[in-house]
Order: sequence, then structure tokens, then C-alpha cells
Amino acid sequence: MALIVQKYGGTSVGSTDRIRNVARRVAKWRAAGHDVIVVPSAMSGETNRLIALAKELQASPDARELDVVASTGEQVTVGLLAMALMAEGVKARSYTGWQVRVLTDSAFTKARIVDIDEARLRADLAAGFVPVVAGFQGIDTIGNITTLGRGGSDTSAVALAAALKADECLIFTDVDGVYTTDPRIVPEARRLATITFEEMLEMASLGSKVLQIRSVEFAGKYKVRLRVLSSLTDPEIPVDTEARSGTLITFEEDDNMEQAVISGIAFARDEAKLTVMGVPDRPGIAYAILGPIGDANIDVDMIIQNASTDGLTDFSFTVPRGDYQKALEILDVVQKHIGARALVGDNRICKVSMVGVGMRTHAGIASKMFRTLSEEGINIQMISTSEIKISVVVDEKYMELAVRVLHRAFDLEVAPA
Ligand code: ADP
Ligand code: ASP
Ligand code: MG
Repeated sequence: MALIVQKYGGTSVGSTDRIRNVARRVAKWRAAGHDVIVVPSAMSGETNRLIALAKELQASPDARELDVVASTGEQVTVGLLAMALMAEGVKARSYTGWQVRVLTDSAFTKARIVDIDEARLRADLAAGFVPVVAGFQGIDTIGNITTLGRGGSDTSAVALAAALKADECLIFTDVDGVYTTDPRIVPEARRLATITFEEMLEMASLGSKVLQIRSVEFAGKYKVRLRVLSSLTDPEIPVDTEARSGTLITFEEDDNMEQAVISGIAFARDEAKLTVMGVPDRPGIAYAILGPIGDANIDVDMIIQNASTDGLTDFSFTVPRGDYQKALEILDVVQKHIGARALVGDNRICKVSMVGVGMRTHAGIASKMFRTLSEEGINIQMISTSEIKISVVVDEKYMELAVRVLHRAFDLEVAPA
């Protein structure tokens, strides 16, 4: 007998029929002798609807109140799912984040889990109940409701699995695993039977929304066995088959694993680029530009400083698109202060990244990537690399084309021998 945490995303609980299917799936795992904790998201579209309601009343909604509103989607699904489980003859009890006591910090709309009180859940499990715990939400030390950021139910599930030392955390979603890239963009994308934790972390942080990045971080920190699999298959498929399906996130590279050089391609539209032109090239200039940006709590991703001519240089960097206007306002002041010639911004960029642990031992990946893009006439605006990834910034209008041609050029649709 194992303890399994099962998370079901928005599409997986998008209707009462789907919720009934989730209940049947859980009943099957119970019948096979396993303890199960279920973590549902809100029904698909619901969190967007709630946020849109808030924006009708306040252009930029108060973060504390937004969390009060946005967290309600999950309260509905835990109750409904508990009812559906009872209808299947499974003892179940629903919990909001604050009833369990999923303790978070007070960073509304992007709170971090600090601690989980496992007492009630343990007691329920011992009494034969399936606890159904709302994803995405928690409570801070002074009793405010918080949410964990979009996609945060993944993190709720992995954090619960870590706190209860579950044997495995299963992320049930609308695709049957982690693919070489988003199968909605590249239909030939291939499902990976396994992906290393490091690669998954890069993929998630570079834009693959199949797992929230913090859930992957949690899995790494607490060594939670994590698997992504489909909730849209026949709920009666045997537990043994289901338990081996999807994509397993692995912590070691072993000889049996697929030995691809590149595991996947991620992309993100949520950044913007700022360039300060004609900056006097002298010590302290990077600090003069990026210091005020950091002070405003804006994260900087890529940074490029050009070679200087006649003592002047151009300085470019990217920030989250949501912070673009704020960054422009800050730089407007900075530009005058440091005597730079001009300030230009572009929020129609995207970042396309190739990820793979095989890059460590293979040369020439970057040049093949750049050649492939140039053959399509796609101009590369910025480049950044690490041991296991190469990212480029290109015009947003080329995003899908770039992903497709790279997928093809690197034969990602073909399983490695
Ligand atoms: P859920 O509501 O279950 O949390 P999400 O929409 O958050 O589902 O995540 C699943 C989606 O992630 C898929 O439908 C797919 O379009 C997208 N996705 C992006 N990159 C990948 C990838 N590399 N592999 C699989 N799915 C991906
Ligand atoms: N319902 C939340 C969202 O849409 C959390 C989740 O789906 O994981 O972001
Ligand atoms: Mg999700």
C-alpha cells in the first residue's frame, strides 16, 4: 500500500461529468489498496473569470482582495469532488487551504508555502477517508487568504506530497505527459517517458506551463517522485498500467534513459526588452541602470552590453512583460540622470529555449540553432546560455515558426536510439 497525492487540473474537473470520472479514478486507486489525497484546481476558465470580475471593479485589483476572490474556484471543486467520491462509495472530506492549514508567506497572488499541518490529513487517512484539498490557496500567519500564483495547484500537490512523505505525486492533466514541446504548437511533438529534474526545472522556468516552476523546485528539494499523466483516458484502466504511464521526472541520469542531446523546446511570450542607448561606458553604469529596477522589485532576465565605441555603449535587458511600463518609467529618469542618448522598449518579443543535459557533452548545438533560425530569416535579438539550455529572444511574430523549425531541425519527433 502506498500514499499517493493526485492533482487534477482545470480541464480534468471542468464539468460534473469530468469530476465524476476523477472520482471513479480515485475509487479505483482506493480499491487497489492505496491511500489517496486529491488536490483539484478550479474548473477550467473559472480562475480567469474570477480575476476578470475583480478587474471590472478595480483596474488593478487590491492583491489581498483578489486572493479572496480567486481562491473560491477551488473551494467549489473540493466540495463537488468530495460529493462525487461519496457517490462512488468512497469516504471523502473536503478541505480549503486554511482548514488544513497550508501556511504561506503574505505575498498575495504569489505566496510561497512555508509549512503544512498534516495532523488532520493523517487522521483522515487513518480513518479511511480520502482528503480532498483545495489547490492554489493557503493562509498567512495572521489569517489572510493567499494564492500561490497561476498554475499553483501543482505546487500545492507537490508540497502536500513532501509534507506527508507520499510515495508519489501524480499530476493528472489534459495531456498524457511532458512533451518535447507544447503539442498544441507542434503536433509532432513526442512524449518523453522520463525527463531529468534539472531539465524539467529549466523547461518550467523557460515557459513550459505543464508544471508550475515552484512545484518542480519543491519536488527537487524534497525528492518527491513526480509524474505527469492524462486524466482524459478511460478512468477504469488498470492501476498498474496507469502508474507507469505519462512522464516520470527523474533525479538521476541512468543508462536506461533516453539519451537525447536536446530534450525539449520551451517558449515564453511574457517578457519585454528595454535598451538604453548611448550610455557612457564607465564603472558603475550597470548598477546605475539595474539598481533602480531591482529596487522596484522587477526581475531582470537577460542582459546584454555592447562593445563601446567612442566611450558609449548600448545596454539591453529583459523584464517580465507585466512590469514593462513601470520599468520604462524608471529608466526614463535613469536615462536623464546618466546622460544616455535614448531609451527604447519592445514588448513584442518572445523567448525560445532549447533544453537538454546532453548539451554538456555535445558541441555545436548553439551554432545549429542559430543557423536554423537564420535560414528562416528570423533575427536573433538576444542570446543567453547555461550548461543545459540556450535561449534566444526573437520577434514575437516568429515564435511558433521558430519552435517548429527547431523541433524539426533537431529531429525531436524521433525517439533517440
Ligand atoms: P492543468 O489545468 O491540468 O494544470 P495546464 O494547462 O496548466 O493544465 O498544463 C497542461 C498544458 O501544458 C497542456 O495542455 C499543454 O498545452 C501545455 N504544455 C506546454 N508545454 C508542454 C510540454 N512540453 N509538454 C506537455 N504539455 C505542455
Ligand atoms: N486555478 C488556478 C489557476 O488557474 C490554479 C491552477 O490551475 O493550478 O491558476
Ligand atoms: Mg496547470
